[in-house]
Amino acid sequence: MNCSEVQASLVDLLYEEVAAEGRARLMAHVEGCDQCGERWSHLRVLSAAADRWSPPPLPRGIAERAVARVASERAREASRTCRVSPRIRS
Ligand SMILES: [Zn+2]
Repeated sequence: MNCSEVQASLVDLLYEEVAAEGRARLMAHVEGCDQCGERWSHLRVLSAAADRWSPPPLPRGIAERAVARVASERAREASRTCRVSPRIRS
């Protein structure tokens, strides 16, 4: 197993989507390889940071404004369709 193969499997390893035998082989390589070990370490740090992150609260009334905007856009589209002159249509 070379470094490219190992690094291609690191995300699967992180999410525990690798069978036990494959996991053991990957971890043996990661623990013995500086480059892959460093990538594995960075990936785990990033994953932990992503787990801790939570999105900021949405501004008040954003859902109502979004619904109103969609309604406005739909009304505009509908009026655009109605503006077509019957004489243009054949
Ligand atoms: Zn390696």
